[in-house]
Amino acid sequence: MSDHYVKVKVQLEQMKSFGEDAEKEGVDTEEQLPVSSPPASVSPDPSSTTIAGRDASNISITCKHRGKSRTKQGKDDKNSCGKDISDLSLHGSVVSAHDGKNLNRLGHERTLHIRGTGKILQGKSETNGNYVTIHASKNVQDMRREDGFKLPKKRRPVTVDTSKAKTSLEALKLSIKQLKWKEFPLGRRTACDIYWHGVSFHDNENIVSGQVNKFPGMIEMLRKINLSRAVRTMQELFPEEYDFYPRSWILPEEYQQFSTQIRMVKENDATVNPTFIVKPDGGSQGDGIYLIRDPSDLKLMAGSQAKQGVVQEYIQKPLLIDKLKFDIRLYVLIKSLEPLEIYIAKEGLTRFCTEPYQEPSQKNLSHVFMHLTNYSLNVHSGNFVHSDSQSTGSKRTLSSVLYRLAAKGVDIKKVWSDIIALVIKTVIAVVPELKVYYQADIPPGKPGPTCFQILGFDILLMKNLKPVLLEVNSNPSMRIEHEQEVAPGVFEYVPSPVDEDVKVGVIRDTLRLMDPGHKKPSTSQPRAAGFEHREEIPMEAETQERSPDEGALPSLCLKQVYPKYTKQFNYLRLVERIAALFIRFLGVKGNMRLGPTAFRTFIRTCKLSNSNFTMASVDILYIDITRRWSGTTPDSREAGMGLQAFVEAFFFLAGRRFKSLVLKEQVVSLLELCEAQLESQSGVEDRRSLSCSRALPRAVKTQTLGLTNPQLGSPAPLRRAASQDYRLHQKLKPRTLRANVEN
Ligand code: ADP
Repeated sequence: MSDHYVKVKVQLEQMKSFGEDAEKEGVDTEEQLPVSSPPASVSPDPSSTTIAGRDASNISITCKHRGKSRTKQGKDDKNSCGKDISDLSLHGSVVSAHDGKNLNRLGHERTLHIRGTGKILQGKSETNGNYVTIHASKNVQDMRREDGFKLPKKRRPVTVDTSKAKTSLEALKLSIKQLKWKEFPLGRRTACDIYWHGVSFHDNENIVSGQVNKFPGMIEMLRKINLSRAVRTMQELFPEEYDFYPRSWILPEEYQQFSTQIRMVKENDATVNPTFIVKPDGGSQGDGIYLIRDPSDLKLMAGSQAKQGVVQEYIQKPLLIDKLKFDIRLYVLIKSLEPLEIYIAKEGLTRFCTEPYQEPSQKNLSHVFMHLTNYSLNVHSGNFVHSDSQSTGSKRTLSSVLYRLAAKGVDIKKVWSDIIALVIKTVIAVVPELKVYYQADIPPGKPGPTCFQILGFDILLMKNLKPVLLEVNSNPSMRIEHEQEVAPGVFEYVPSPVDEDVKVGVIRDTLRLMDPGHKKPSTSQPRAAGFEHREEIPMEAETQERSPDEGALPSLCLKQVYPKYTKQFNYLRLVERIAALFIRFLGVKGNMRLGPTAFRTFIRTCKLSNSNFTMASVDILYIDITRRWSGTTPDSREAGMGLQAFVEAFFFLAGRRFKSLVLKEQVVSLLELCEAQLESQSGVEDRRSLSCSRALPRAVKTQTLGLTNPQLGSPAPLRRAASQDYRLHQKLKPRTLRANVEN
């Protein structure tokens, strides 16, 4: 038995014996474990000479004088969750009294004017600005009793291990307090219900039960290169649906293609003058970012090392407010991977540049405060405006910006609906690989926790109001303080009521959704019912089921968008079905890569070889693709074929087999063929009472089998070339670049 499982066994034994004690309150002080973990550090290498780097080099000198150190794992953000956007913008409810400071404190009396009714309600503002009590004299419990509501028995408080929460600690503490849950700041000998990690799934090792607020592999999946690859795979299948991500090339491996494509574009049309933004792979907070106008300006090397990163089409015509560029930070909760459950915080944040925007020119390319919206950079500009108001200054709430746009006649329902679609599609792009990480770290059938995670989506609105995805942060800052220059060059963290208001709301409501005692909503997912993805997604508030002991809390500031909008998006989940096949053939050891034998088994089991495609060709295909991909993923845990390489092989096989179809139809057809083979085989095996290797649970299979979009099927002439470079970008068409220039 491995060390790990010995520990797991011991822990389970302890859990049994401590089980009863754990029910009682007051055991936490004895149970808390000393923790001596070093602070999180995910700081990128600051050495690069870039526009952001140059400015940041000055900045970093001043940063040294700060009262408290700044960690990079969290990016800036204030946010204000909870005011239902539909209330603010659609139904016209207006909060008339802003007390400016400490919006989050319980018990602030405010008035709420309901437009059209002349009514003024009095209520207590809660953490996210929602109104809780509109009856002046009765408390919720009285009202319930009057309604004949049976109060539930008091249950044991949910326990949360906060020992690794790092910079989210303060917001987390406040959330736990509001929920009347039990915090274990030094860890606990017995298992907790929830483990809150500041950086990664692995912050605490050997967790065998409960829930962890990070997924294994999320950091890796959301690095710029991997995110670009995952979205690109989806762009190949669904180019129109995934046109919200700027065209990107992976460095250094795609430098040549980038260079050739741009040269051709310029030769075809001399008036096209694109700009590109270069981003280091693991970078954050704008570090290492710079703009270029020609491929020859790329700095490919750092010393003798090739720089890993992406170069991306720069959106030249963003929507401006007060002549300034801004971006949106949205908090998104992935509550579960299987079944997929996604929630979006109803309120977001907008972060403004501090120098009026001009379209890129050779003169202004290095103006960070004009082109980069990062709070962490702009806060050091003399023009940064700290404001108590949520609708002015360099950080504003998303609702205040939407409000302003609505006043100008903009269809903000459409904007919001496009943003939700962008979020769901992006999550669908990264889920397949996350599932591979998940089964490697938490093999099915072995003790382990379940996971959830809050992500920070950074979104830019183009001048034509189309949202564009810039990046997704696996560790969005949950600090409830912001930096302030208290003396020239001296920065300190000071409490930020707006940050507290928003982030406590997001954390608290995430905890409420993850409450182990909370009745789970039905996980049955509606079947794909048609090709209705262009349908607009309504902004109306979620009518959220509340547990009776949540009476004193405001309604959730997180809105479920999936499975709620399954009907519109389920047909996109093709790569997930490929991943299900991949995982099935990985074997039982929690691997991440297929060996040559497993690949052969896949081909044989699914009956994909024949006289035209012999097993010798299968071996060549495996070697060819695996060799190429091994060069692109230096940090791979093991040798063999990873998911992305398998997807490439699958596309290739689909192209060979169903030549006359377009790619997505080829893939659907091959998936159906493979799934039918596996289904018939597991039927045979069931009859023989044999279990097949380590198939996904039947529920997963059933679900993935139902994903086919029924309207796919019209043959189209596009044929996927079976050559080495068939995964490269389509030729960069001047038309595509124009599309942005026209904004
Ligand atoms: P980081 O992780 O370092 O913050 P981002 O990808 O978020 O990197 O980019 C930093 C900033 O650069 C963004 O906040 C945005 O203002 C700007 N930016 C990034 N990508 C683009 C793009 N393709 N077009 C226009 N502006 C961009």
